[in-house]
Amino acid sequence: MIARDPRRVFHLANAATGALLGCGISHILPLLPAAAGAAGLQAALAAACLCPRCAWVGANVTRGPARGAVALTFDDGPDPVLTPWILKALDAAGAQASFFCVGEKARRHPGLIRAIRDAGHSIENHSDRHRYSFAALPQTAIAREVRTAQQTLTALAGQVPLFFRAPAGFRNPWLAPVLAAHGLRYVSWSRRGLDTIDPRPERVLRRLVAAIQEGDILLLHDGAGARDHKGAPVLYAVLPPLLAIARERGLAVVGLPALLG
Ligand SMILES: [Zn+2]
Repeated sequence: MIARDPRRVFHLANAATGALLGCGISHILPLLPAAAGAAGLQAALAAACLCPRCAWVGANVTRGPARGAVALTFDDGPDPVLTPWILKALDAAGAQASFFCVGEKARRHPGLIRAIRDAGHSIENHSDRHRYSFAALPQTAIAREVRTAQQTLTALAGQVPLFFRAPAGFRNPWLAPVLAAHGLRYVSWSRRGLDTIDPRPERVLRRLVAAIQEGDILLLHDGAGARDHKGAPVLYAVLPPLLAIARERGLAVVGLPALLG
C-alpha cells in the first residue's frame, strides 16, 4: 500500500514536485489519473515540500526569542558588487548579519568569504549549486549539495556553518537527517522583502518593517536581487533605511548565532 510506505509516497510527491518545478504543472496533469489513489496525499506532500515556512518535512526555525533583537540574513552570495557594499552598510550602522552563501560562488570569490568573516558576521550554508530542483533531488544528491558547501565554507571561513537554508526555501523529507549528520539547524524567516522579484524599494522595505518585532528573522539577498527602474539594485534603497528603522525602534540587528544562541 502506497499510504503505508512513506518512501514510496515521498517518491510520488517528489516526482510531482520536480515536475512542478522543472516542467510546469501542465506536463504532469496527464499523469495524475494513474496515481489517483494517492493524489490527495501527493498533493499534501508536494505542498509541504513547497512551503518554506512550514515544519511538515522537518524542524524549521522561523523566528527567535524576543530579546530586543532581530536577525538579518542575506541569501545567494557572495557577490563581488553587493557583498562589499552590504558589509560597509552594516559596519556603518553597527549591525551584524548572517550570510547564507552558495558553495560554488564562495569558491569563485574566496576573498569575500574572508571579508564577511573578518567583519564578524556568520557564514551559513545555502547549498553548493543553488539548484532550484533541490526539493526534487534524491537523498544522495541532497547530501552532496549540503556536504560540499559545508566543506567549502568551513575551509574558506575557518568556521563551521551552523544553519542551512534551502534554495527558494523548498525542501523534502530527506533533508532533515542530512542536516542532523552535519549538526546543522534549518532556518527560514519570519519576514522577507521579496527583493529578488520586486523592483520597488519602498514596497520591499515595507514588507520587512511594517510589523517588525523582536525575534524576527529578516530575509534579503546579496545575489540575484531585483533592480529598480534606474537599474540599481533594490537593496541600495532598502538596507540603510531598514537599519535606521530597526535602531529607531530599539531593535539590535544581529546574526543568527546571536539571535538563536
Ligand atoms: Zn537562494
